[in-house]
Amino acid sequence: MNKLLPTSTAGSLPKPSWLAQPETLWSPWKLQGQELVEGKQDALRVALNDQQRAGIDIVSDGEQTRQHFVTSFIEHLGGVDFEKRETVRIRDRYDASVPTVVGAVSRHKPVFLDDAKFLRGQTDQPIKWALPGPMTMIDTLYDAHYKSREKLAWEFARILNQEAKELEAAGVDIIQFDEPAFNVFFDEVNDWGIAALEKAAEGLKCETAVHICYGYGIKANTDWKKTLGTEWRQYEEIFPKLQTSSIDMISLECQHSRVPMDLIELLRGKKVMVGAIDVATHTIETPDEVADVLRNALRFVDADKLYPCTNCGMAPLPRHVAQGKLTALSAGAAIVRNELSA
Ligand SMILES: [Zn+2]
Repeated sequence: MNKLLPTSTAGSLPKPSWLAQPETLWSPWKLQGQELVEGKQDALRVALNDQQRAGIDIVSDGEQTRQHFVTSFIEHLGGVDFEKRETVRIRDRYDASVPTVVGAVSRHKPVFLDDAKFLRGQTDQPIKWALPGPMTMIDTLYDAHYKSREKLAWEFARILNQEAKELEAAGVDIIQFDEPAFNVFFDEVNDWGIAALEKAAEGLKCETAVHICYGYGIKANTDWKKTLGTEWRQYEEIFPKLQTSSIDMISLECQHSRVPMDLIELLRGKKVMVGAIDVATHTIETPDEVADVLRNALRFVDADKLYPCTNCGMAPLPRHVAQGKLTALSAGAAIVRNELSA
């Protein structure tokens, strides 16, 4: 992009109440069959329009066609039995009943291709598409087949690469892999997690991003954050290796997080999506609060590599709150953009 400080979101936006119950994760669809297909497309159009009205530069589908950022991809794959469930610990944080990997995992047909083509047909703006990352995918399943987190991650990376290449061909400008698990399993991230991520992005000519956050503003996450102390130095464990990786952009949580901003220096040379909107509160940031985070980040990121963004997805927020936050993000970025060009 030629524009300085182009704004974007981590991905998800609230769904309209006629499509799914608001302010709820995993909310069941309210429509069925062809009505659901059209309902999702209409919701995608609304989410796009909301972003455009707020002045967001790099737009997304708002993840209007998925119930969950990981599961909605996995449920299209072979080798995973959604009836057979086991309880596992998600990201070492909370227990959840999850599907079981019962055989070799495979992708029989594209998962998000039609949705991405639909979004591409609606706008000439740059579009970003989110996929789950390999490590976060394996962390959301019980594996009774490979019995190796690394092996399963490699298989998912291969599948993600097929999907990503089709999304690229459909005109997606940035493919983002969501890897909140990178903030938890540092040894594995450095041993094979980043390598698996690079495998997922292998051969792509569009830009690639990885989103690493401290999670949605749900209770399990906010409780976990309270245990992390006054300085969150998790990123420090993985940034050195990410800096030398083939991934172009790193998406981070910076607003109201206790991450010391100087850790971003470890990524120098990469494009950084700086989270300047807190998704764990209904309080809408002022443009000045957004600008403060961006100015702080500019000490460690070159201006032409800074992408103002949200900390994480906004799916669980009330729609008017999410809209207010999008508008604040644009306004805050505009303040700093003006300062830079002054
Ligand atoms: Zn996130």
